Amino acid sequence: MGELMTIGAFARASRLSPKALRLYDELGLLAPAQVDPDSGYRRYAPEQLDQARLVAWLRRLGMPLARIREVCALHARDGRAAAAELRAYWAQVEAETAARRDLAAFLVDHLAGKESAAMAPTAHPLTIRYAALSDTGLVRDTNQDAAYAGDRLLAVADGFGAGGASAAAGAVDALRQLEDDGLPAGNLLNVLEDAVGRARTAVRGVADAMPEEPVGTTLTAMLWTGSQLALVHIGDSRAYLLRDGELFQITHDHTMVQSLVDEGRLTAEEAASHPQRSLLVKALGAGEAFEPELRLQEARAGDRYLLCSDGLSAVVASNDVHRVVAEAAEPAAAVRELVALARESGAPDNVSCVVAHVRPAAA
Ligand code: MN
Repeated sequence: MGELMTIGAFARASRLSPKALRLYDELGLLAPAQVDPDSGYRRYAPEQLDQARLVAWLRRLGMPLARIREVCALHARDGRAAAAELRAYWAQVEAETAARRDLAAFLVDHLAGKESAAMAPTAHPLTIRYAALSDTGLVRDTNQDAAYAGDRLLAVADGFGAGGASAAAGAVDALRQLEDDGLPAGNLLNVLEDAVGRARTAVRGVADAMPEEPVGTTLTAMLWTGSQLALVHIGDSRAYLLRDGELFQITHDHTMVQSLVDEGRLTAEEAASHPQRSLLVKALGAGEAFEPELRLQEARAGDRYLLCSDGLSAVVASNDVHRVVAEAAEPAAAVRELVALARESGAPDNVSCVVAHVRPAAA
């Protein structure tokens, strides 16, 4: 260890104030190498300069204190481990920000009255054609998925646990009320929230009947307003949009492996073959108060949407999904062909698909 420095000299060398250094000590982030028992003077080792600067940068980043301690502890042993921890932290910040950004965009559209404008007759009214198909697959005894498509609602749910089939069906049935209710203008957000509340109540009802079993369901659903699709999503079922020839996955899987991919701890290829790839971090289930993500999708004539359970996305390559969705003349043909592809790949899980085509309404 080099010669110890006074707090003043250390502050100048680290370009931090003595006040900041005292604070870092109080917070347990950077203790002086020596505190004189008589005078209370703090002395620092030159080797601590690196850590002092690191603490300052991490605080500037907004990292919570406990996490700064973790990064510093890792940094003392292994720079790469500290880098990985920092990368993981930042991925988490970005994921949280993305979820908030979606909700903010939804609210902006909502408050700007886009929705009520959309309810008025437009120059180019749109309509959807749709089809849904759910298949037990080749390995499972029962089908715990539910798929539905109607004039207003598209939905896929993938239940798990002993009551999984009832949970999935209950969640989708709860949303089906949206088919009948009609949409009061300016009220889309509340309508959706109520529908999600009914779905959650339905799943809880199933869970309460079998308290010793974890029961729940994913839910990916879109409500058609006439020019927009409001998306509700929780779990690892997916929604895709085909627009201008490109296929976009517009939902984010709420799975453990997707979190690890987001954090840079796992590659997408490793995630695809991970033994625990279906482990969910969020679902509609008993005792969990996770809120589904909400989003508004502006529809255009020519858009095609696919909602599917992981029984499709886990076994059929995305370029095959893309080709089928793009080339099928009718939604019914698309869902049949997608399920057939999953079965050709062994269909180890239940497979559900909903396809919708957005078209100009007939005059
Ligand atoms: Mn599944």
